Amino acid sequence: MTSQTGAQIIDGKAYAEGLRGRIAGHVARLKTEHGITPGLAVVIVGHDPASQIYVTNKAKQTVEVGMHSEKYELPADVPEAEVLALIEKLNADPAIHGILVQLPVPRHIDPNKIIATIAPAKDVDCFTPESVGRLQIGLPGPVSCTPLGCLMLLRDFVGDLAGKHAVIVGRSNLVGKPMAQLLLRENCTVTVAHSRTADLPGIVRQADIVVAAVGRPLMIKGDWIKPGAAVIDVGINRVPAPDKGEGKTRTVGDVDYASALPVAGWITPVPGGVGPMTIACLLANTVTTASLINGLVPPKDLTP
Ligand code: NDP
Repeated sequence: MTSQTGAQIIDGKAYAEGLRGRIAGHVARLKTEHGITPGLAVVIVGHDPASQIYVTNKAKQTVEVGMHSEKYELPADVPEAEVLALIEKLNADPAIHGILVQLPVPRHIDPNKIIATIAPAKDVDCFTPESVGRLQIGLPGPVSCTPLGCLMLLRDFVGDLAGKHAVIVGRSNLVGKPMAQLLLRENCTVTVAHSRTADLPGIVRQADIVVAAVGRPLMIKGDWIKPGAAVIDVGINRVPAPDKGEGKTRTVGDVDYASALPVAGWITPVPGGVGPMTIACLLANTVTTASLINGLVPPKDLTP
């Protein structure tokens, strides 16, 4: 889709739908040719409504692509040892190829202990030190879901990324750092910016590719964008929307979409850009881990 004012709008929702279709095809082949049904277990502790919706969506989409889905809802006051025991049980379960513990967890539970207990072979979020290391040195394995989704969109819409200057704003373990690794693999020249970066607008103006993963509504302005650049907005921010009624909110990204749209070459909207890709890439990772656990080469179109 091309906007009337400039940038091509990257429709992540449509791309994710197509990706889920391809995943369903791979799942069907794993079942018929190898007798393997990829299985994903999702564990949620407590009753945070946003997490509940997210987890329910994950479970629904898992079933829709033909995978086996297990959902464990534990009370907010569950002892840490019980959560760790459940993860150990899932580590040993041959029907499960991916384990995801929805973060954040309540304060009495140490998220690092949770992550350290997940078997790296089933770490579909790519959180464990082993998975992070494998990603860093380019070994096969699961890849952080949101950066994988961003990479798929960039490859599909922009094409060859080699030689391009990518500026990633944000250096979190979840998004910024793995994104930098993936774009390095694509032979981009990568700059990672953060809250202590001097002259952020000047750095972003040099970018052929901007990935915004900050968590600050509309921070990156149109006059920071180099004309024709690809702009990938990972940010999800709820802001007041008085025009929709008292107390109402809307979701916006980290990029000031209205001012960036006329300047950019490609841009992801929020919502409907990167967001829908994250769950689809979680399913892709589950196909990857199910393949690797069974000694098979994972499908090339689901890996970086
Ligand atoms: P974190 O809070 O973990 O990291 C934010 C990063 O932004 C940090 O590296 C921080 O720098 C940097 N930062 C903060 N303020 C500034 C600033 N003023 N200028 C430059 N850099 C700044 O966030 P996440 O990476 O987890 O998430 C980022 C955004 O992406 C959030 O809006 C989140 O909701 C969204 N998100 C969306 C997903 C999706 O599926 N679409 C998935 C995951 C996240 P420093 O390190 O110096 O503190």
